Amino acid sequence: MTPLHTPDSPPDILYIMGTGRSGTTMMHVLLSSVPGVTGAGELSHCLQDALLDDRPCSCGTVASRCDVWLRVSRSVASVEPDIRTAAAWLRNLDWHTAFFRTLTGPPQTVLERYRQLNLAIFTSIAGSDRMVVDSSKYPSRALMLHHAFPGRIKTLCMTRHPSGLIASFQRANANEQKPKALLSAIAYILWMIVVLRIASLRLAASCLIVRYEDLVTDPRRTLTAIGRWSGLDLEPVATAIENQQSFAVGHLVTANRLRKLGRVTLTRDDTGPRGFASRLAGGFLGWIQRGVGL
Ligand SMILES: [Zn+2]
Repeated sequence: MTPLHTPDSPPDILYIMGTGRSGTTMMHVLLSSVPGVTGAGELSHCLQDALLDDRPCSCGTVASRCDVWLRVSRSVASVEPDIRTAAAWLRNLDWHTAFFRTLTGPPQTVLERYRQLNLAIFTSIAGSDRMVVDSSKYPSRALMLHHAFPGRIKTLCMTRHPSGLIASFQRANANEQKPKALLSAIAYILWMIVVLRIASLRLAASCLIVRYEDLVTDPRRTLTAIGRWSGLDLEPVATAIENQQSFAVGHLVTANRLRKLGRVTLTRDDTGPRGFASRLAGGFLGWIQRGVGL
């Protein structure tokens, strides 16, 4: 399919930032099910996971045989012939260590290269669709995309109560996500509270904060609010959830347990953490998170 998008007319981007295990992939799957919207997971990882490591795609084949990743591979090679260098360069700008540098925006030459590389990824994934969903999660990438594509990016900030996060971090997901020790979970959650709050303030009206708990307890109301903010018609998605229908996960290559399922349904998980210290930490972090308005 011939892409309709050009450097002057890129697709709109709906970026999902948030803490790991806060429902970002599920949200990605729900939004990508809307006609005219497409997504391929955590795009900050796609050069490494799809193009270099040739990981299995959730469509059932390896990335080098998947139509979507073949398109991305050709498109990226036209602007960045050395994919390995480009993947490392992108990590250096998108991931957590870059956060405070990305707040003010990088130099113009860096920004232009960033724009060209991401445009190659977004346009090849979009095809003729008008919007691309990217669930990379990093607040740094939200800010970089905001600098590179002013006016074309909306950021959904997903949060979840730290008790639910800690409970989720205590569980292993077969070969995908290892359990996190309590101290590293606390450090990670604290870091995310700080950077998500700063990024959401910086992004102002182009950012909408959505709580995981609201999505699973009242999907229709939550999706209606997201629809109003994004301009997407999410009524059919809400109806499908109420009818307990499943959603295709599409073309995901980055580690996530949903990637292996093919189709997923929205289910509620309100298990609390095991152990007194974990429950105490969850309560305390929850108090901080609410205190800063997340
Ligand atoms: Zn695929």
